[in-house]
Amino acid sequence: MPALQRTEARTRARLLQVHGYTIDLDLTRGGTVFGCTTVIRFGSAEAGADTFLDLRPQTLHRAVLNGTELDPAALDGNRLPLTGLLAENELLLETDQNYSSTGEGLHRYTDPADGAVYLYATCGPDLASLVFPCFDQPDLKAPLTISATAPADWTVLANGAGKRVAEGRWEFEPTLPISTYLFTVVAGPLHSVYSEHDGIPLGLHGRRALAADLDREAAELFEVTRQSFDRLHQLFDQRYPFGRYDQAFVPEFNWGAMENPGCVVFAEEMLFHSAPTEAERAGRAMVVAHEMAHMWFGDLVTLRWWDDIWLNESFAEYLGYRVAAEATRFSNSWSGFAAKRKGWGYDADQRASTHPIAANGLESVAEAMSNFDGISYAKGAAALRQLVAWLGDEAFFAGINEHFARHRFGNAELSEFLDVLAQSSGRDVHAWAESWLRTSGVDTLRLAVSYQEDGETIASAELVPEGSRPHLVGLGVFGLDGDGRPVLRESFAVEVEPGRPTALPQLAGAPRPALLLPNSGDLSWAKIRLDEASWRTVASSLSRIEDPLTRAVLWEHARDLTRDGELPPSAYLDLVAAHLPAEPVDAIVEAVLTYCRLRLMPCLAPADRPAAEARLASVARELMARPEADQGLRLAALKSAIENATGPEQLAELECWLADGVAGAELSASLRWAALLRLVVHGVIGEERIAVELAADPGLTAAEGAARARAALPGAEDKARAWSLLFDPAGGLSNAQLNATAQGFWQSGSEELQRDYVERYFAEIPSAGQRGDMIARSLAGSLFPADRSTPETVALAERTLAEGELTPALRRVLADQVDDLARAARIRG
Ligand SMILES: [Zn+2]
Repeated sequence: MPALQRTEARTRARLLQVHGYTIDLDLTRGGTVFGCTTVIRFGSAEAGADTFLDLRPQTLHRAVLNGTELDPAALDGNRLPLTGLLAENELLLETDQNYSSTGEGLHRYTDPADGAVYLYATCGPDLASLVFPCFDQPDLKAPLTISATAPADWTVLANGAGKRVAEGRWEFEPTLPISTYLFTVVAGPLHSVYSEHDGIPLGLHGRRALAADLDREAAELFEVTRQSFDRLHQLFDQRYPFGRYDQAFVPEFNWGAMENPGCVVFAEEMLFHSAPTEAERAGRAMVVAHEMAHMWFGDLVTLRWWDDIWLNESFAEYLGYRVAAEATRFSNSWSGFAAKRKGWGYDADQRASTHPIAANGLESVAEAMSNFDGISYAKGAAALRQLVAWLGDEAFFAGINEHFARHRFGNAELSEFLDVLAQSSGRDVHAWAESWLRTSGVDTLRLAVSYQEDGETIASAELVPEGSRPHLVGLGVFGLDGDGRPVLRESFAVEVEPGRPTALPQLAGAPRPALLLPNSGDLSWAKIRLDEASWRTVASSLSRIEDPLTRAVLWEHARDLTRDGELPPSAYLDLVAAHLPAEPVDAIVEAVLTYCRLRLMPCLAPADRPAAEARLASVARELMARPEADQGLRLAALKSAIENATGPEQLAELECWLADGVAGAELSASLRWAALLRLVVHGVIGEERIAVELAADPGLTAAEGAARARAALPGAEDKARAWSLLFDPAGGLSNAQLNATAQGFWQSGSEELQRDYVERYFAEIPSAGQRGDMIARSLAGSLFPADRSTPETVALAERTLAEGELTPALRRVLADQVDDLARAARIRG
C-alpha cells in the first residue's frame, strides 16, 4: 500500500479545501469490525479535477460522490480515486472498519479480569484512514462532527464536547478545524472523575478495573493540569481554544500519551497501579504539561508536513519540562531531563541514522514515525533551551505569540517560525538555525587548563570546541569546603564560537579549583571533556556535590565516556558502587541503574556479567537500607535488587519477598512479576507457578508479566512456543503481549539454543515489516539479541541490513540496534 508522499500531499492541499467531516461510528457490530458512515464536504480549486481519498476499510459498502454511486471495486489498496470534482463536493462513504490489536487505528481491548471491552483511536501520523475515510494529511484541517452508537453501559469520549442523547447514542459538537491525525474516540464502561478550572471543564477517565487508582491519582492529576494551564496562559496570548479537556488512560498504548485536542490519551501505566517513584510522578507531570503544550504546538498550529516534527515535539518537550519545573511541585524536572532524557538524544545523535532537528528531508509519511526519536524530542528541547538562553524569554515568547496569531487553526513550517522569531528578537535567528537545526551530531566542549610552576595556580584555561555550533554555556568553578566537599564558588557565562578555542581569562591566576565544569546548568547540547584533575574530583566526590542538576550532568558525562570507550565499564561500575548508594534523587538512581542493566551489561563478556549483577544488586540493597531513603528511592532500588538478583542467597530472598513483602509492604503486581521472571530465568520456578500466579490476579499487569515469564522459560520447547507466538502472524498477540514476550525471550536458554535463534532471528526479521509498524518495531527493538554482542552477531546483523528487504520503519529500528550492538562489541573487545 503506497504511503503518502510529500509531493502528493502538496498537490492535494493546493487543490482541496475540506469544509468538514461528519463521522458516525457503530460500535455494536461485534468484536471484529465497527461500522462507519462518513460525509465529507470539500471544495476543489479546479472543476473537473481528480484526486484520491485515503481509506483502509474491511469492507467498502458504498461511496457516493455528488449523488453518483462510485464502484467500491475502484478502491485501489488504501486509495479511492475521485474524478470529475465540482467546485463544491459532497462524498458519502459507508464502511466496515477493522478493530486493531496493535494500538494502530481503533484499538479494542478486553479486560481479562471482568470481560469488559474498551476502545480508543490512535491516528498519527497516517492511521486515521484505519478509522474513517479521509484526506489524511496534516494540512487539510477541518471541523469533525462525531457521533457513535455504543452499548448502553458505555461512556464515549471524542475530540469535541458531547453527550448521551439516548440510550447507547452519543453526539458531539463540531470541533474547531483540526488535522485528521488528531482524531480520537475513547469508549467503554469507563470510570470518570470531573472537575473544572478557569472555565475549562476537566475530565479523567480510565478502565473500571482501575477506578481506585484513578480516584487516588485524580487530585494530583487535576492539580498539575490546573497549574500547567495557568502557566501556559501566562506565556501565551491565545487561550486554550478546544473547549473541554479530557484525559483518558487506556490499556496497551504504544506511546506515553497523544495530544488529541480536547481528549488526550495516556498509557494507563501512568495511573500507577503499583506505587510509583517520585521520578515517575515527576515524569508524569512533565507528560501532562507536554500534552497541554501540544494544544498550541501541534493542534492550534500544526506542522505542514512530517519533516517538521520538531515544531510539535521539541516545543512540547521543552515546555513540558519547563512548565513542570516552574508551575508544579516537581521543580527538579530539569535534573530528570539531564539524567535520563538527554542520554536518549545523545545516543540517537551519534548513530549513523542521526538527522538534523528540523527539515530532515523526509519525503514519505512511511518514514515519519522513525523521527519521533531522541533528536526530535530531547535534542530539539535542548536546542530550544539554548535558543532561549541566547534570545531571552521576552523575544522568544513574543515570536511564539506572533506565530500563533498568524497561523492559528492552520499550518506552518520552519522558515515561517524563524521569520517571526527574527522579527521579535532582531537577532540573526536564521544563522542560528542553520548551525543548530539543520546540522546533525553532537559538539564536544573540551576544557584545557595549564598551571604555573607552583602547580597550584592556573596559568591559562580555555574551552576548546569540537563541532560546528556556537554555544552559550555556564562554566562552574568548584572548590572544596572544610569537609572536602566540592562546592560551587562561582559560575560564569561563556560564549563559545565554533572552530576556535575560547580563552577563559577569568581563571588566570586563580588557585587550583577542585572541579571545572563546562555546561554547568546544562543549557546546551554538547558532550564535555574535563581536565584530569576535575575528573579525579568527580571520581572521588561525585555524590558529595550538593546540586542535583550538577550530579545529573556528571553522571551523564560518565555514561558518555563509557559509551566512547574512554572509561572502562568496570570503572563506571566503580563509580556506581562508590557514589550511587548515597544518591538521594531517584531520577538519577533510576537512570544510572537502567543504563547499567540495558546498555552496560552487553559491553561485558558473559562470564563477567554475574559479578556485575551481584555488584548492582548489592548497591541496590545499600540504597534500600539507607535510613533516610524515601519511598521512591526504595522502590527504584528494590526494582534493581530484583532485576539483578543472582546466586542462591539472593534468589531465595526473592521468594521471601514474594511471600512476605518487603519492610512490611506487599510487592506491587509489577515488582511481583519482575521477581517471578527472575526466578524463572534462573530455573527456580516454572510454568506451574506462572499459571497459579496468573489465576490469582488476572489483570493486565499479570497478563504481560506471565507472557514475559513464559518466554523466559529456558527449555527448547518453551522457546519454540514463544518463537511461534512472536513470528506467526496468526498468533493473535496484542502489541503489549507481543512486546512482553519479546522482552522475556533472550533471558534464558542454553548457549547452543540461543545461537540457533540468533540465526533464525536475522533470517525471519525482514518478514516482520509486513505486520505493521508497531509489531515490526517490537520485534526489531525488544526482541533484538542485544546481549549477544559478538562479532558474529554483528556480522549477521549487518548482512541483514545490507541484503534484507526491509520496510523503512523496520530498517531504522534495526539499524539503530546494530549500531549499539557493534559499539558494545567494540567495548567488550
Ligand atoms: Zn509530544
